[in-house]
Parts: sequence; C-alpha cells; structure tokens
Amino acid sequence: MTDQIIAVDLGGTQARAALCDAEGKILDRYAQSANAVAGVEAVYTSVVETIRRVATDLAQIRGIGVGVPGPVGPWQGIIHEAPNLAGMVDFPIKARLEKDFGIPTFVGNDANLAAMGEHRFGAGRGVSHMIYITISTGIGGGIIVDDQLLLGWRGFAGEVGHQTLDANGPLCNCGNIGCLEVLAAGPAIERTAREALRAGRESKMNAMVGGDVERVTGAIISRAALEGDPLAKGIYERAAFYIGLGLVSLLHNFDTQVFVIGGGVAIHAWDLIYPTMSQVLVKHAFPSMSKGVRIVPAQLGDDVVLLGAAALVNEKLQMSK
Ligand SMILES: [Zn+2]
Repeated sequence: MTDQIIAVDLGGTQARAALCDAEGKILDRYAQSANAVAGVEAVYTSVVETIRRVATDLAQIRGIGVGVPGPVGPWQGIIHEAPNLAGMVDFPIKARLEKDFGIPTFVGNDANLAAMGEHRFGAGRGVSHMIYITISTGIGGGIIVDDQLLLGWRGFAGEVGHQTLDANGPLCNCGNIGCLEVLAAGPAIERTAREALRAGRESKMNAMVGGDVERVTGAIISRAALEGDPLAKGIYERAAFYIGLGLVSLLHNFDTQVFVIGGGVAIHAWDLIYPTMSQVLVKHAFPSMSKGVRIVPAQLGDDVVLLGAAALVNEKLQMSK
C-alpha cells in the first residue's frame, strides 16, 4: 500500500501532522509547538519534525498537504504572509518540503482546506455546491463550486468574513468597514456584551463575573444565553442576524446548496444562532433561491484542516494520473 498521505495543519501556536489513508482516516498523529518565537526557520523545522514523527516509512507516502494561516499562493506553494508564524513573507514551503522529503507537496490556506475537508469527508459530502464558514476569533471560509474549491486570480478567494454588511459599521482588522467578521466573530460578541453591561443593562452575566465586565468571555455569554438571559440571547441573535445576511449575499452570488458552519463560536452556540440564521436566509433571500438550501454544523472538529490537507493531496494526485 502506497496510498498514504501526510497532512499538516500549521497554526500560530502548534504544528500538527497526521498520517492518513486516501479515505481520510487518520492512522497516526503528532503535534508540537510551531516555535514561532524562534523565527521563520524554527517554524519550518517544526513542520519537518512533525512530518518525520508520523511518516515512519517515506516510501509509503504519496503526497504531503499543508494548511497554513494567511494568504497562500496555492500553485507555487508559497506562504505570502503569516504574521502569526514569525512574520513569514513569501516563504516557499512547497519547494522546501519537496527538496527535503522528495514527495509531491501541496499547500493551501487553512480555511480553504477546511472547506475541502468538510466537502470530501464531512458535512458537505455528496454536495457539489457548498460554502464553508468558520466563526471563531475571525471568520474565514472556502467556496466549493462544481465540486472544486474556488481559488480566484491569485488563490485568495473565499474571504467570506470580509463582506461589508453595515456601511456604518465598525472598522475591521482588514481595513474595511462593517465586515461580517467585525460584526459577528468571537471578539464582536464579547465587545457587544461588555458595552451593554457598561451601559448598565440588566443581565445575569453581571453576577457571573462578579461585576468585573473585563472578565466577560464568550463562554460566559453563551452560558448565560443558554440559561435564558435575555441580553446574552439577544447578543447571539444579533451575531446570527449578520451571519444570516452574509449567507443571503453568498447564496445570491453562488447559488449554494449547503452552508457548513464551523469554528468554536458557531459550534458551541449552535442552538443560539441557528434559528436566526435560517430565518434571515428565508426572509431576505430570493424565495426561489433559498428553497431547499440547508445550513448545517461542521462535522470534522479540530481535524478539519488536517483532513482538508489530505483531501487536497487526494484531489491533486488523482488529477495528475
Ligand atoms: Zn474585514
């Protein structure tokens, strides 16, 4: 059997590698610090070490797939910029790994690969038109059209978190205003809760943090909301309203069949956000377009980027046959 794949999820804190089979089954895994504090070469060394730990027999490995945070040149396999990875700029990770291991290597943006993972092995299986959205500290995603990841001119497509949904909204980290991300990601939910509490709003969150508004976290807000606190519930409904508007816009642009929503914020608060998201989609999209569209939770959890990297290798090697 020589159809094993090495999948790598290179994050700002950890480098993770998995040995997978062609069906996305993880046979072995290893993780260690990405070592970003020690510089760019230390990050690369960390990637090499995680691969060596799971690739006990290199002759069995058909390909290596790597998911990285930040904009990637998917054809050349270059990490254009990764502020979380010791400030990597134009780092040729594909060429370096192919030189060191002699194995075909493919690279993608982590959220893009997560979309491929859910499409191939998770909640989007069997669907040709799917959009994956991850909602955590930021909002990212990937767009699957006709069973293919949409890459765009330079490979940067799928920045679903940076569609403007409020022209009078707050400034986003990306430089734009009123982006979905700045309205509905984890930090937005926390910011909205703190502002409301500072303004004197009644909520059981006050007691939960002993009156210290700075201690309000996403976990506190979701717990209060699940216990029926009106303010906390309203904050999730507001975030879900903007996510729903984002889905409307994406649906109108891409005629998507299934939206797969992942990331810590969405998964932990699914019951709080799902009703509003789906109502907004039905209320504001063309009726003929929203009919039959599903919004479902992601299925692959923390392994989504690893399995996406495996899906990428799988697809590339089948294509090149
Ligand atoms: Zn933005």
